[in-house]
Amino acid sequence: MSFKVPRGTQDILPGESAKWQRVEEIIRDLCRVYRYDEIRTPMFESTELFTRSVGETTDVVQKEMYTFEDRGGRSLTLRPEGTAAVVRSYVEHKMFGSPDQPVKLSYVGPMFRYERQQAGRYRQFVQFGVEAIGSDDPAIDAEVISLAMDVYEQAGLTDIKLVINSLGDKETRDNHRAALVAHFEPAIGEFCSDCQSRLAKNPLRILDCKKDHAHPLMATAPKLTDYLTESAAAYFADVKMYLDTLGIAYEVDPNLVRGLDYYNHTAFEIMSTASGFGAITTLCGGGRYNGLTKEIGGPDAAGIGFAMSIERLLLALEAEGKSLDLHNALDVYIVAMDEAAKVKAVELASTFRTKGIAAEIDYAQRKMKAQMKAADRLQAKFVLILGETELQQQVAAVKEMATGEQQAVAFSDLVTYLQDKLGGQA
Ligand code: ATP
Ligand code: MG
Repeated sequence: MSFKVPRGTQDILPGESAKWQRVEEIIRDLCRVYRYDEIRTPMFESTELFTRSVGETTDVVQKEMYTFEDRGGRSLTLRPEGTAAVVRSYVEHKMFGSPDQPVKLSYVGPMFRYERQQAGRYRQFVQFGVEAIGSDDPAIDAEVISLAMDVYEQAGLTDIKLVINSLGDKETRDNHRAALVAHFEPAIGEFCSDCQSRLAKNPLRILDCKKDHAHPLMATAPKLTDYLTESAAAYFADVKMYLDTLGIAYEVDPNLVRGLDYYNHTAFEIMSTASGFGAITTLCGGGRYNGLTKEIGGPDAAGIGFAMSIERLLLALEAEGKSLDLHNALDVYIVAMDEAAKVKAVELASTFRTKGIAAEIDYAQRKMKAQMKAADRLQAKFVLILGETELQQQVAAVKEMATGEQQAVAFSDLVTYLQDKLGGQA
């Protein structure tokens, strides 16, 4: 019997995991300077939380949730996204009572969706997301977008574009909804069964349909932007003004509707424009969700956030032929030529490590030549050679691999010597 990872999941192997750590480091550093504190919520929540907030008519709720009953008969669901839980936590822990509004939160963790497996689409994937809850200042919309853009920029992506839209307020949506029903109703028989049920429940969802996107009525559908109320239009104008202020370029796409029900006002996506990225080009999606706190039992608070998967970020890097600047290099490999040297190697490796110098030694009883090869494979910056003579003289032969330069360094000077050299390389 042999086992494989479950469909739609993957092992992140050594080598690959260094890239994840680098991306997570970029994320952590940005969240620190933007001040989005980390929040960690459970991997599963009551099913009702997601049907309520994500929305009954969405693909996520209708087709993609991992829902199960626990031994106590509760219906639970592995979280398919992060916003619902963060907003639940904001309400549950009365964060709305804090004087520091908006509350700015971030998370990184696995999400679960039962999806058809394809490139860039997994059943377990890791999302980084932020939420700013408790402010309806358009400047925070721009801040959230700016943070997402910075992640991609710092990761080294250049072929990306930001697409924004406004979904307006309730009045906007009510008027638009009536126009959509009038538009699609006469020909609804030509649409998929999902769209047919969306017509009555949430006709906006029709525009997001993956099956019927080529139907001619899609292109001529009434545009939400034409129904924006005066205040919703003013809000959108301010968001754009702040993006201009930050020097962030964007396209306005009046057909952009997000896949989850809770959005209003600002909606945005960041896409990869790299050729060869494939069919799925969205790297990040986000938007405003005023009223979601109320929907799940709290006071009315405005909120905005985004989510991006690390998987798609890494795919986009690959498509652009870019590699991350990884800090996982081996500083020094210690080659030991005999038993006595091995003992010294163990001791030195330990000393180096306590000083923050990454050190490796041989644990496979290899001959000197094989140890040198191992050092090469591990791309050690320095190789330190210990033999009988070296032990007698209390020195190590230190070879700098980049230059080929070799030098005898006293044991007592090794740490400073390496720190100096490594500092210079950084
Ligand atoms: P799509 O239209 O691609 O299905 P979505 O609207 O379902 O996306 P969101 O729920 O907004 O996506 O999630 C935000 C981000 O999470 C996406 O832009 C993408 O980067 C990532 N994402 C969503 N689903 C998956 C998945 N199955 N595998 C990997 N990443 C995903
Ligand atoms: Mg989806």
